[in-house]
Amino acid sequence: MERMDERKRNRLSDPSYIREVLARHGFQFSKAMGQNFLVNPGICPRMAAECGADSCAGVLEIGPGLGVLTWELSQVAKKVVAIELDRRLFPVLEETLSDCSNVEIIEGDVLKLDLAELIEEKFGGQTICVCANLPYYITSPVIMGLLESGLPLRSITVMVQKEAAKRICARPGSRECGAVSASVWYHSEPEILFPVSRGSFLPPPNVDSAVIRLNLRPEPPVQVGNKEQFFKLVRAAFSQRRKTAANSIAAGSQFSKEQIERALLAIGAEKNVRAEQLNLEQLAALANSLLYSV
Ligand code: SAM
Repeated sequence: MERMDERKRNRLSDPSYIREVLARHGFQFSKAMGQNFLVNPGICPRMAAECGADSCAGVLEIGPGLGVLTWELSQVAKKVVAIELDRRLFPVLEETLSDCSNVEIIEGDVLKLDLAELIEEKFGGQTICVCANLPYYITSPVIMGLLESGLPLRSITVMVQKEAAKRICARPGSRECGAVSASVWYHSEPEILFPVSRGSFLPPPNVDSAVIRLNLRPEPPVQVGNKEQFFKLVRAAFSQRRKTAANSIAAGSQFSKEQIERALLAIGAEKNVRAEQLNLEQLAALANSLLYSV
């Protein structure tokens, strides 16, 4: 039995086997759906091992493709629920995951499904992990949506483009930080787990990738008086990178440049500071100071 599993594991990341399965099902890759399938046998076992699947009620996967990661997840998780947009992959998945009784494939668009309802129905509302080789065209909305959803998630382990990985995980106050990284650090402790070369995919994309893991925080690391206002201010602050934070926020909020400069001085920052020079504590203090100054 063990030897059979081993054979199957290898076959699912074997390009010639995959080509044969795809040809038999008459499947053509869709660029629009971000279909670059993993064929490097070292990646999926590592993602499955490092996503924390064994320590929560189950795993939610986004975009199972041919099932190569799904299969690995099914070996370590109690239950795997995978959301796939492309219905053409369903007969393929039926074949490649035929021996995985703890896997359920759901048809749908991850951006449109009610994930709270799904987690309630499939996992009894218990804490789960997310693990996925994300279609790159929806990286940010998926990550931001999951982080801000309040869903019972322990961690989010995802493959993203290498440059996106750096941006998403950049600490506020560092050069590469943006609005997304500020939100990521507010909701989680992010880390880049390992790089993945473009040659690990079929067809190979034009860029390299990396696997990141966001460990959801039980409590945010800073207190903000009004979360919605805080994120609105953060988005405005990073919206025009060549401008000072005061100019950018003034252009994207109800506050005047003078009010913002006063608030910056009050929190101990320079009035012509740029958004990427402010750490999370300073961004929170700035938002609180502005909120209570009106
Ligand atoms: N997990 C597989 C692997 O690692 O080989 C496939 C990953 S491929 C990069 C992305 C997968 O997400 C594809 O199967 C694609 O059809 C699916 N997909 C694309 N957009 C989606 C969406 N909005 N909701 C759910 N799945 C989506």
